[in-house]
Amino acid sequence: MNPPISSQAKLPGRPFVAYSNGQLMVEQVVLRDLAAQHGTPLFVYSKAAILAALTAYQRGLAGRKSLICYAMKANSSLAILKLLADAGCGFDIVSSGELERALTVGAEPAKIVFSGVGKTRHEMRQALEAGVGCFNIESLAELEVLDAVARECGKVAPVSIRVNPNVDAKTHPYISTGLKGNKFGIAHEDALAAYQRAATLPGLHVVGIDCHIGSQITEEAPYLEAMDRVLDLVTSIEAAGIAIHHIDFGGGLGIDYNGETPPAADALWARLLERLDARGFGDRKLMIEPGRSLVGNAGVCITEVQYLKPGEQKNFCIVDAAMNDLPRPALYEAFHQIVALQPRDDAPVTYDVVGPVCESGDWLGRDRNLAVQPGDLLAVLSTGAYSMSMSSNYNTRPRPAEVLVDGANSRLIRARESVQDLWRLELP
Ligand SMILES: *Cc1c(COP(=O)(O)O)cnc(C)c1O
Repeated sequence: MNPPISSQAKLPGRPFVAYSNGQLMVEQVVLRDLAAQHGTPLFVYSKAAILAALTAYQRGLAGRKSLICYAMKANSSLAILKLLADAGCGFDIVSSGELERALTVGAEPAKIVFSGVGKTRHEMRQALEAGVGCFNIESLAELEVLDAVARECGKVAPVSIRVNPNVDAKTHPYISTGLKGNKFGIAHEDALAAYQRAATLPGLHVVGIDCHIGSQITEEAPYLEAMDRVLDLVTSIEAAGIAIHHIDFGGGLGIDYNGETPPAADALWARLLERLDARGFGDRKLMIEPGRSLVGNAGVCITEVQYLKPGEQKNFCIVDAAMNDLPRPALYEAFHQIVALQPRDDAPVTYDVVGPVCESGDWLGRDRNLAVQPGDLLAVLSTGAYSMSMSSNYNTRPRPAEVLVDGANSRLIRARESVQDLWRLELP
């Protein structure tokens, strides 16, 4: 349930989204004005929020050999990638499409790591030609294929093996990736043999080790546990004569969607570095692949109330954003706070906030207390990550526009799709 928000100036966990004079703002820009200018649904991102999130990681890793690779599947809009590339980030990519996005914004290829369980030969070739810094390998079969592709291209592929530490990240099953039953990585017990095999393949050069145990992790314990398992492996791999130059701890740090209290990135890294130092690995090159925690709480989605539909069991608040724009509730039953841009003083009513798509899974929030009327504008909060990048055109709905706010300024970073855009490639 939403707390009553009309008197609440600050939204916890979102320092760059706040009410001022009864109006919801992102930084110093009134969201209602952006909706009037660009229409709804509309994604709005705060540049300051993204940079503040990045700075927390940079502070946490200050003085260490490190590289922050933004996992761009969280939000791959070019302006956001450019912002992060200019701030020194590398990128974690999972497709050749993402590779091209990174190169388009001027990312240094050496700062790109290529993750994913299903890299095609074509994608491997493209990434080798581009000169990516590391392939994060997820299976023995992939190791053999990459070796063959690299030799065909006359290259040596820098590789890391993604190990599955069998740690419970205590998150939603669909976004938990470090357990034995997951499709990701090579089991901890098999990792040494995989490294020994990699070391014999002339098309590969072992450079590191990586893990990624899941997403929306709100505790430090799973990270510490994964770190211990990975460091145990580094010890045994190096004892076998294979040097590990970097250790990549993946991403996964959670954000405050609904009162969760994940550790701050700098506090988490203070704890992890303590452990790393204690075990004598403090001078290794450290890599991380944060996605959600860099952009999630920097974004809101503005939507307009179309209809109120009272019912015997449920009241529905029907808005113009839907599961195609904001897929997380339909996909994971995820919670996003929903607040009015201009709160009314009327008594709130409990609604399910739903979109117009012809699916019962098309809901954005359940049992929300809202004082709203048709035509009112709402903000769906914490939609900077895994929202626009997961959006679709289901129901022939053009995807929303995106705006980046910087202080008192705002800039359109993606135009709203037209219906013609949607069938541009179709052949009637
Ligand atoms: C998705 C993903 C990430 C980023 O996860 P977040 O939860 O968004 O931080 C990092 N590494 C890999 C391999 C991933 O698949």
